[in-house]
Amino acid sequence: MQPQHPNGPRVRFAPSPTGPLHIGGLRTALYNYLFARKHGGTFILRIEDTDQFRYVKGTEEYILESLKWCGIDIDEGPAEGGPFEPYRQSERKEFYRSHAMQLVKNGNAYIAFDTPEELEEMRKSKEMQGEVFQYDHTVRQNLNNSLSLSPDKVEKLINAGTPYVIRFLMPLNRELIIDDIVRGEVHVNTSTLDDKVLFKADGMPTYHLANVTDDFLMKITHVIRGEEWLPSLPLHVLLYEALGWEEKMPLFAHLPLLLKPDGQGKLSKRDGDRLGFPVFPIQWKDPSTGEIYSGYREAGYFPEAVVNLLALLGWNPGNDQEILSINELTEMFSLERVHRAGARFDPEKARWFNHHYLVSKDDSELAPLFMDVLKEKGIDADIDKVKDVSRLVKERLNFRDDFWDQASFFFQRPESYDEKDIRKKWKEETPDLLGKISELIGTVEPFEASVISDKVRSYLEETGVGAGAAMNPLRLALVGENKGPGLFDIMEILGREESVARIKLAIERNRNP
Ligand code: GLU
Repeated sequence: MQPQHPNGPRVRFAPSPTGPLHIGGLRTALYNYLFARKHGGTFILRIEDTDQFRYVKGTEEYILESLKWCGIDIDEGPAEGGPFEPYRQSERKEFYRSHAMQLVKNGNAYIAFDTPEELEEMRKSKEMQGEVFQYDHTVRQNLNNSLSLSPDKVEKLINAGTPYVIRFLMPLNRELIIDDIVRGEVHVNTSTLDDKVLFKADGMPTYHLANVTDDFLMKITHVIRGEEWLPSLPLHVLLYEALGWEEKMPLFAHLPLLLKPDGQGKLSKRDGDRLGFPVFPIQWKDPSTGEIYSGYREAGYFPEAVVNLLALLGWNPGNDQEILSINELTEMFSLERVHRAGARFDPEKARWFNHHYLVSKDDSELAPLFMDVLKEKGIDADIDKVKDVSRLVKERLNFRDDFWDQASFFFQRPESYDEKDIRKKWKEETPDLLGKISELIGTVEPFEASVISDKVRSYLEETGVGAGAAMNPLRLALVGENKGPGLFDIMEILGREESVARIKLAIERNRNP
């Protein structure tokens, strides 16, 4: 049954600060956010930092920055506060122990004294027999726990300060049928499951207990998370039941995995740099190794493009519309349209999205970005000129940084000319012809592309010279190689003086090719 949400659904993004946020994680955040916004609900950020050993400094800040960059704003969270503070699990310790103890008291969990060394030993010996060790109903009676030991002994051990964990007592042979919004009915027999640790010897809960407790306490209505958590679902459902929270259990939606471009396996954090595209929203420097992982932001992606491409990795709007703003996505998003099958990442398509957003930006918005590229090259250009150049070249760019490759000749004279083109296109008569043309453009008024074009073309017609014989060497003179937008547009932006000077220079340099 669908729970009631008088104030809209409450969803959470619950990352663990154990490393930078992968784009798969960012997609989970985005889907939660879109769902909350669509239904007038609340988007919560909860930091799940109960694993002290895997904690990586700087990742919480990294997560916040990534969300902010994408325009995913948080309603309740560590920085925003909210009615269910605190939102960092390491600050919520008192909530977990009591629930673990309640489970022990009710017979849904038990205390286990097995040391990590003993467990490792058993794991190894099973492995030697080609089997996998599971702490479950087949072995629990023979191990060192409150099910096998007398209550007296258990009390003695606890009083003596023996470290212990609390494990969930997985019921025997129950057929669970759990509804998942994305995956439909999930069937599992509890006898196949192990007795997961809920509370650790270091006084911290495990993910399972903390996650379920907080989802309940924070009144979460929908758990939207990656498919890798699907195996934990039966335990979570049983925990709701054992804690008496069944009525308030959220609905679940497990999102499909993001796959490598060839569809072979999950997209991993190393794939990006290996295959030439980022898998992280923003650049990440590993604090222990100093290794740098590239990020979409630094690679020149616009956040709108990243949001758009991630939204379509695992969901579709029900029509073939591909370009969707975050507002349109909010309007159209539905969990029912999330796919079951893994979503293959397509780097070519990612670039295509960025190209689209770049082209649709106004030249006055792009010009400052291109000014930065020029500045990095030591060129101090005039912003109006950069705007004009932007209008001419942006169709050719996927990223801000492509500007240099496509437009550098507007800001510096060619130093040399493409040798192959010179050999093919620079003829004996070329210097004379270009000399004439430079005379023509020296006087044409006004100095505008269409006027220059008319003048040059009618000259060529009158003299019977083929267009190619003039245009190809002219392009070499102005650009240095056979590329760039329309020749007369280039001239107009370069201006009369510079155009003439470049033609003269080319004639001098190529007098005797
Ligand atoms: N802390 C888990 C993670 O790192 C949260 C999984 C969940 O959403 O339940 O992804």
